[in-house]
Amino acid sequence: MRYESSRPRTTSPPSAGIEETLDLHGAGRSSVIALPGAAAAEARHGRIEALSREMLLELGEDPDREGLLRTPRRVAESLEFLTSGYGQDLRALLNGAVFDAEGYREMVLVRDVEFYSLCEHHLLPFFGRVSVAYLPGRKVIGLSKIPRIVDVYARRLQLQERLTNQVASALEELLAPRGVAVTATAFHLCMAMRGVSKQQSQTATVAFTGDFKTDPSLRREFLAAAGGRGAPPDGL
Ligand SMILES: [Zn+2]
Repeated sequence: MRYESSRPRTTSPPSAGIEETLDLHGAGRSSVIALPGAAAAEARHGRIEALSREMLLELGEDPDREGLLRTPRRVAESLEFLTSGYGQDLRALLNGAVFDAEGYREMVLVRDVEFYSLCEHHLLPFFGRVSVAYLPGRKVIGLSKIPRIVDVYARRLQLQERLTNQVASALEELLAPRGVAVTATAFHLCMAMRGVSKQQSQTATVAFTGDFKTDPSLRREFLAAAGGRGAPPDGL
């Protein structure tokens, strides 16, 4: 079996933002004026900023006091980043990092990939770790791409259940493997900060496809190897 733990990664801005910046530079050099993508993004940014200011007023705050002056802009920027997964094309992101498996048949596991997402019911963060395994068919994927796939689906309004399934489906679609296994364990701030106010409880979800679905010994092998914080309770 081959596996690696994900190391802490530096956060990079969404690629859409980079492309737009490059477009702007290109437009400046070649004197092209029309930038519908960038202009639309800017208009949307302005609207989110205005709505954030409006929300501060509705919450009884003074958006003109010093500490809040730049808050609407920061809120717009952070929400855009935290939902940047919507605009990302998975295949473009992979950028050719799918390779011939060269006869390798054993489980490939990337363990403890950190993720940060927003629950779609409260727009509050949930965050934790995902472990992803697959049984190669004819293709394998560059290992560093698995955390990037997780980010594409984490950076949008989510349910942990859907996130888990989407990561499994993405690998199914990209690699046509013999099976995929995904487990996620997360803290939900909507549970910790409000309502039931349970600070320590974690939520675990799993998704199995192909051979993982039909073969309990493979599931056990995966769950044992995924171990630690990524492991759901026994019996799954
Ligand atoms: Zn929630």
